[in-house]
Amino acid sequence: MKLAAPAPKATTRSALLRAGVSLLSDAGIPNAENEAIWILEFALGTSRLALRLEGSRTISPREQDRVMELFARRAAREPLQYILGSQEFCGLEFLVDRSVLIPRPETELLVEQVVQHNFRTWPPIIADIGTGSGCIAVAVARALPTAVLYATDRSPAALRVAEHNAARHGVKDRVQFLVGNLLEPLRAHGLEGKVAAVVSNPPYIPDRELLELQPEVRMFEPRLALAGGMDGLEFHHQLLGSAMEFLAPGGLLVLEVGQGQAGPLSEIAVAHGGYAQAGLVRDAAGIERVVCLSKKF
Ligand code: GLN
Repeated sequence: MKLAAPAPKATTRSALLRAGVSLLSDAGIPNAENEAIWILEFALGTSRLALRLEGSRTISPREQDRVMELFARRAAREPLQYILGSQEFCGLEFLVDRSVLIPRPETELLVEQVVQHNFRTWPPIIADIGTGSGCIAVAVARALPTAVLYATDRSPAALRVAEHNAARHGVKDRVQFLVGNLLEPLRAHGLEGKVAAVVSNPPYIPDRELLELQPEVRMFEPRLALAGGMDGLEFHHQLLGSAMEFLAPGGLLVLEVGQGQAGPLSEIAVAHGGYAQAGLVRDAAGIERVVCLSKKF
């Protein structure tokens, strides 16, 4: 006869919090206490204050199982954002899951560059290439209420997340999501020479550095969103070529890059690519993070 697993004993909220903190700190999570609280807030639909005030409230074994499972996922280094299903970007909450890169604060700089641009034609047509969660396209659409956007990605699963985010933020009718490689899907829409701005945060981690990434990134974020080939600039080079075909004369190309990549990329773009340098933006850590180019007339 098979014995049933012993049912977990009823426990209190504060005991569960203590269990979570010790599990996470044993796993080397630096911010263990806060992260355990965020997981509890999320799983129990409660607040930090209520957790403290009603710490002696009991938790059903089912809830307990659910919470312990979330603690275990975090202890195994899954990013908190995937567990909670959410990341803030440009003041908006985005759904995220393991099919998309978690939006990073420095990527907001790309949105700023596009939004501040002085467009010559109105409404501007803007393309976000490798949209992932859709964060760039959705934030730009929100900031430029008449802009028309096209957002592409190779991953259909990522596009489902992006579409959800566009709907959540009320811009679904102005952002078209297209599956395919880089700018290729725009061809079917006859957009050659018509795009006012191309923006992209392509994968840019050089292959040899992939193994050195922190475990959260290395083990859980999509490799498709990270790996940028030998020098990390493989996609940037392809983008220089295909954006040239789709941009209108004077059109803007805004690309995110990794440390030390801005110089080499700008040089190639200006010397061989038919672009003029249109700006370089450093991130909060002082790293040259965004390369802005304009297609020559
Ligand atoms: N465009 C998305 C972002 O900036 C995804 C980028 C990617 O997957 N490389 O977060």
